[in-house]
Amino acid sequence: MLIVQKYGGTSVGDLKRIEEVAKRVIKTKKECAKLVVVVSAMSGVTNELIDYAHHFSKQPNAKDMDMLLSSGERIASALLSIALNEQGYKALSFSGRKAGILTDSVFTKARIEKIDTRALQEALNNDYIVVVAGFQGVNEKGEVTTLGRGGSDLSAVALAGALRADLCEIYTDVDGVYTTDPRIEPKARKLDRISYEEMLELASLGAKVLQNRSVELAKKLDVKLITRSSFNNNEGTIITKEEGMEQALVSGIAMDKNQARVTLRQIEDKPGIAAEIFSALAARNINVDMIIQNVGVDGATNLGFTVPENDLDLAKETMQNILGAKSLIETDKEVVKVSVVGVGMKSHSGVASAAFQCLANEGINIQMISTSEIKISMIVQEKYGELALRALHKVYKLDEK
Ligand code: ASP
Ligand code: MG
Repeated sequence: MLIVQKYGGTSVGDLKRIEEVAKRVIKTKKECAKLVVVVSAMSGVTNELIDYAHHFSKQPNAKDMDMLLSSGERIASALLSIALNEQGYKALSFSGRKAGILTDSVFTKARIEKIDTRALQEALNNDYIVVVAGFQGVNEKGEVTTLGRGGSDLSAVALAGALRADLCEIYTDVDGVYTTDPRIEPKARKLDRISYEEMLELASLGAKVLQNRSVELAKKLDVKLITRSSFNNNEGTIITKEEGMEQALVSGIAMDKNQARVTLRQIEDKPGIAAEIFSALAARNINVDMIIQNVGVDGATNLGFTVPENDLDLAKETMQNILGAKSLIETDKEVVKVSVVGVGMKSHSGVASAAFQCLANEGINIQMISTSEIKISMIVQEKYGELALRALHKVYKLDEK
């Protein structure tokens, strides 16, 4: 049995916490033959290092940044290894380089290309607990790279995939993935299990738990994930393949407040118009989320889409430039997207109508709707977002076990 455990910044937040992590690692090591532990920098360290760099420069060079930022994880991994050795356990700390993590050369947001696991395998075969500094690798020239914020999750999943681990446990300071944000709905429940697809759709709920890229990679490499707290012994949430799961109709309700709506009226209904609009937005790196268009009447049509709030001004300006005076551009920042997510809706009817009826009962107007196989998203006025979320959570009985 081979397990990869990853401990986030708060889990190794101070020396006392590292001591606690060492205890948990030892307990796991007693139960499983091979153990790889990936650590983040102690909480606050990465931000502090970024601030230090900004003391000298507004735009520090990215190679230097990676030398600087990777040090946070090296400190935490070395300290944990020292603590484990002191307890009489054989442990060895590895930088990204020593762990064989090879990346491209996009400094500060590199992608892992390959992992040469030989050094890790050798240490594991010699019964060492392997402690790897997360968030980093090296490029083909041997220069240090980092994987983007939250990248230690990615290190853990990539290592679990390369080593064909039986399990990858991600330790953080929350108990797992919830049916919705517990700060908005105190009746939110922790989920025992969820599929990769649902987890990706619930990103706005899970963002604090797991970096999205790491969920995508786990899905691709078929790595079984568990996210749980290092502050208690609760079970956590398993994130795994959909098949074989008892399919919940709806697993969770997510809310994205960072949405702004753009509606274009009276735009010419001719081939190429959508291409022109969305190419122009893409050229300005504006991430468009929902897109809604209907059949035109008398040569004109309406088109609606949403963008992140801070891109709204740029999106509006872009539209004015290409559409000219005849079209009406209407925008609204005071909107949120509420989404109902569940793999079970693939094979059941009535899930969407229940959502619409639920909001109707609350007197909430739905401005835009979009659906995928496992998701129903609705744009509503921001002031009704939390009400909508709580009402939907109740309608699908997510507060009941
Ligand atoms: N220390 C890095 C960060 O704060 C990576 C990580 O914690 O996953 O983003
Ligand atoms: Mg994190």
